[in-house]
Amino acid sequence: MSTYAVTAARVVTCSESAGQGALGVLEDGAFIVDDKAISWVGKRSALPKGIAVHDEGANVVTPGLVDAHTHAAWVGSRHDEYVVRMAGGDYEAIARAGGGIVSSHRQIVAAEESTIREALIARAKRMASLGVTTIEVKSGYGLLPEEELKQLRAIRDAKSDASIPRIVSTFLGLHAIPPSLRDRRDEFLKGATGLLERVQIEGLADFVDAYIDRNAFSVEESRAFLTAAKAHGFELRLHVGQFSDIGGAELASELGAKSVDHLEVVGEAAMNALANAGVFASLLPTACFTLKQEPPPVARLRAHGIRFVIASDANPGTSPSESLPLAMAMGVRLFGLTPEETILGVTRHAAASLAKDDVTGSLAVGKCADYVVWDLPHEHALLQPWGVARTKRVVREGRVIGGSDLAHALK
Ligand SMILES: [Zn+2]
Repeated sequence: MSTYAVTAARVVTCSESAGQGALGVLEDGAFIVDDKAISWVGKRSALPKGIAVHDEGANVVTPGLVDAHTHAAWVGSRHDEYVVRMAGGDYEAIARAGGGIVSSHRQIVAAEESTIREALIARAKRMASLGVTTIEVKSGYGLLPEEELKQLRAIRDAKSDASIPRIVSTFLGLHAIPPSLRDRRDEFLKGATGLLERVQIEGLADFVDAYIDRNAFSVEESRAFLTAAKAHGFELRLHVGQFSDIGGAELASELGAKSVDHLEVVGEAAMNALANAGVFASLLPTACFTLKQEPPPVARLRAHGIRFVIASDANPGTSPSESLPLAMAMGVRLFGLTPEETILGVTRHAAASLAKDDVTGSLAVGKCADYVVWDLPHEHALLQPWGVARTKRVVREGRVIGGSDLAHALK
């Protein structure tokens, strides 16, 4: 068991109880890592005497980043439909022609569970190199019960790997109708609902998700499924308002969902409901950019007091990026998010939206030692679109899982 202090010119705690401003910045800050956890946070000058010190000099240190919306357990590539879409093809038309989610479904059906797990682990390592120490990973490409279970088991097995980011798993039971059940919608819904018990018994998911939109599932279809999910003890996070506002936000608020994700199209009634219920708005700038959509109404969401989460939505179709820092840069540049909203949206708020705020999301006593030493002088520099990893050391529970220091150590 090792105990050491980390010191730096700027320690951005993202805690409500330490430091200056919305991000809790400690100039000449320090924190003590005791094995896997943080045991002390304060000014460098107040550090207990005699402790070993890792001085990070002029670099900025932040909590490990939390990517709260990904579909990272995919296999294969959808570069072909990307090219079609960039030439003017329409996402919903591509989906109707058997592309989109159904295309990823076919790849999952053809893959072994171990292949899915290895693809996820490799991807999670790349995400760690960009500063991420926790990722949410959804199923939703299996579509058929046995295939969903295969994808969820691959995600569960990746969870035990301590050399990658911590994984929070989500059963995305209502994502799309598989081609074999296209004319038997009720049968598909019954199968997805029936799967909840199995997912619970095997401990395969922390959250349950549904895609509520005009091209996906209706509010009434989702209500029955999600009510059953709640009865099985699952927390909810939902795809809402990507293309149309059909009432998903009101349903999410009514059912006490932790987060609604996308919100490119969201009306006044929806925003009132989200604000009253304290639901996080998870914004996905890379998906919005890829689909050439108008950004969500950030100023109006902000005026309602709704808290933001920013996520990569990593998936092979609509957000072919594994980079949370790229999503952050686009959040500021394209969505008009403030630096503070963006950084809290990938730390404290993202962790809270995953019900992991007791574990990570800020540098605070008792939380896991999840932190990033950036090869950058200020937290605002994180918001520029570098296009390359600017991480020196990415640490999960006291262990280096990414950054240039890890790359050196492996040479
Ligand atoms: Zn998604």
